[in-house]
Amino acid sequence: MKPTSNHIKGIITRCTNYKEADRIFTLISDNGIMKFIARGAKKPSSRLSGHIEPLNYVTLYYRPSKSLNSVSQVESINAFLEIKKEYNLILRAQYMMELSESLSSENEDSSYILSLLISTLSNIHNSKIPDLDILIFEFEILKHQGFGIRLFDCTNCNKELERSDHYFSSKVGGFYCGGCFESKEIHHESIKVTIEQQLLLRTISRKKYKDLINLNLGEKEINNCRKLIQKSVEDIIGVQLKTVKFSDL
Ligand SMILES: [Zn+2]
Repeated sequence: MKPTSNHIKGIITRCTNYKEADRIFTLISDNGIMKFIARGAKKPSSRLSGHIEPLNYVTLYYRPSKSLNSVSQVESINAFLEIKKEYNLILRAQYMMELSESLSSENEDSSYILSLLISTLSNIHNSKIPDLDILIFEFEILKHQGFGIRLFDCTNCNKELERSDHYFSSKVGGFYCGGCFESKEIHHESIKVTIEQQLLLRTISRKKYKDLINLNLGEKEINNCRKLIQKSVEDIIGVQLKTVKFSDL
């Protein structure tokens, strides 16, 4: 057994009880999604108990196996207790974990997704507008996975978008200019996005997060931008995420 191969950090995304005293769980790590069994973890005397819970950032030692890696030792780095105190934040955290999982796979570098997830979970309880944190998270994770939204020019004719309302289509991952939108007859599959909402997305894409607070954002602006990202996620993974409905999108 290589010493480097049996030590890993990550966030536990889901757990189930197995047999009388075991727990089976999924972890998002730097090496993608991994599955583990923690034998005896349900026994109160177990050193593993208490650490193996969804939404715990842990470091663990394990014996690698082709089916389920067996955990020998685990410690919590951050249990995100501030989030666990608030039901609304738990729902949002569950959604972010599900989104991260759905865009990761086994044996694939997920270090960017994991670090984005950790930093968003670490800050969201202090946020004035938690849904804005979620929008940034969604935007960045999609972009990193190669599904970035084209914000500055028309996806059909490549012309720079004028300063006005435009229509977004998740099928093309961007906006149509006025002329292309009229000629395409795609009203049914597009979402109208106002100038303010486009500005919000552009500010996020430039990573000028501090400027967002000066935009005087309303719930409507954020929710419409999130709707457009939700639609993109749905198109990419083929289904709607189970945990998506924490707000009335
Ligand atoms: Zn166009």
